[in-house]
Amino acid sequence: MPPKELLMSKLEEVLYSGYIAQGVYVDEFEREFSRFNGSKNNLSVNSGSSALHIALILAGVKPGDEVISTAITAEPTNTVISQTGAKIVWADIDLNTGNLCPDSVESKITERTKAIMVVDYAGVPVNVARFLEIEFKYNIPIIQDSAHALGAKYMGKNLGNHFSYTTFSFQAIKHMTTIDGGMICVRDDEEYERAKLLRWFGIKKGISRLENDINIQGYKYHMNNVNAAIGLCQLESLNHIIDSYVNNGQFYDRELQNTGGVQQLSYYENTVPSYWLYTLRVENREEFIKMMGSNGIMASELHKRNDLHTLFADSKTNLPNVDIFSRDWVHIPCGYWVKEEDREKIVDLIKKGW
Ligand SMILES: *Cc1c(COP(=O)(O)O)cnc(C)c1O
Repeated sequence: MPPKELLMSKLEEVLYSGYIAQGVYVDEFEREFSRFNGSKNNLSVNSGSSALHIALILAGVKPGDEVISTAITAEPTNTVISQTGAKIVWADIDLNTGNLCPDSVESKITERTKAIMVVDYAGVPVNVARFLEIEFKYNIPIIQDSAHALGAKYMGKNLGNHFSYTTFSFQAIKHMTTIDGGMICVRDDEEYERAKLLRWFGIKKGISRLENDINIQGYKYHMNNVNAAIGLCQLESLNHIIDSYVNNGQFYDRELQNTGGVQQLSYYENTVPSYWLYTLRVENREEFIKMMGSNGIMASELHKRNDLHTLFADSKTNLPNVDIFSRDWVHIPCGYWVKEEDREKIVDLIKKGW
């Protein structure tokens, strides 16, 4: 949370302003977010999941369609696909990054593929260059779930400036939190206007209810002024917060090089991760986690490979690289709360072995 003096006065201001629903604070939050992120057409919503759902609808995904996706992610990436009635088609990952492998994705494209969902897992940008090629070659929209990757860059620009749709989450544990909230960046101007309708029951804001005629199915997905006010305070120190993740991540990148039993991730050309998590592949993972735990450091697998969930049983397929990656992966603490002495201790422990 932002400093108390800053946040409490802002919250008091909005709570007693007489307007706590979606209003001027939300507009200002979107403007300030756009200044931070450099992206146009930023639409705030009440969660990252809502942002993903809007993206899927804009992409035209309907029951029976196929959406290519990854098993290496948090569940909402994929529960939202099944929410549309579409079938998830798993593609395999690139073993060096944990992110979707463009060649594997290409091999899974069929006539029914309506969208491709890519995830910048742990804050590591996907292979943007190759996925942009795929987006244009096949004319299939790419939805980039950047819930882990706020502030990560491709070619010097923050994510949110490249694909048809990019979404962020401001849930409690993300780089930035509005308690709950999300953002969708929409490349096309007309689709952005449709996204606004989808966000609020299909009703056009700024025109009286009596003059409104709802002609598309919309949802109650808007952000309110209270969450937006928290977001506005967060934005003031966001660069600083993201820098601390990045500093810690780059420290591990340097210091864990050539460490026995450890394989580091690699990053695609022209990308800078924002290290929401620090992911490693390690030998004897159970022992590694135990050793770290007994020294007061929480290391964990964190996510279950999504294709193991019963809900997605129809999509079951062979994913050899996911098999290897999910057998070895582990995450170590990397956020703003990890101080210099902590990260040095973590590196020393790993170097000593387990
Ligand atoms: C957090 C998260 C989401 C969902 O965001 P909510 O704001 O919790 O709805 C989606 N995808 C990924 C990868 C996430 O980590």
